[in-house]
Amino acid sequence: MGKRRYKTVSGTGLVIMRWFWNVIASIRRWWADRRRRHAFGPTVVLDSATDPARELAAGKLVLVGTAEKQKWLRFKCPCGCGDVMALNLMAAHCPHWRAERHDDGSLTVHPSVDSDNCGSHFWIRRSKIYWV
Ligand SMILES: [Zn+2]
Repeated sequence: MGKRRYKTVSGTGLVIMRWFWNVIASIRRWWADRRRRHAFGPTVVLDSATDPARELAAGKLVLVGTAEKQKWLRFKCPCGCGDVMALNLMAAHCPHWRAERHDDGSLTVHPSVDSDNCGSHFWIRRSKIYWV
């Protein structure tokens, strides 16, 4: 009798534990999602001599170079880790990305961005962020 009762308690305990971990997992997911950005601000073009810190902090996409010759795309990692990313846009160097500017000023980037630092993986399409 005592043995049976013990089993029942431990089973209930397991269910509560599982429920508890599910709650923790969904809070963590919600928190990660809250920290993540889902869109970038406007695109700005700066020459390499200009310090982009203010634009980066504002969540803008910073094209470094000239309108004809883009060299880098810099932005703050949208996961909230604080990392500043720099994608090489010069085809002569590897790896490189292609940034396409749309009429409304938004930006599409090929291929997707995969960060070794924080594990973020996302696409940028029309300055919106699509998490993978
Ligand atoms: Zn990050």
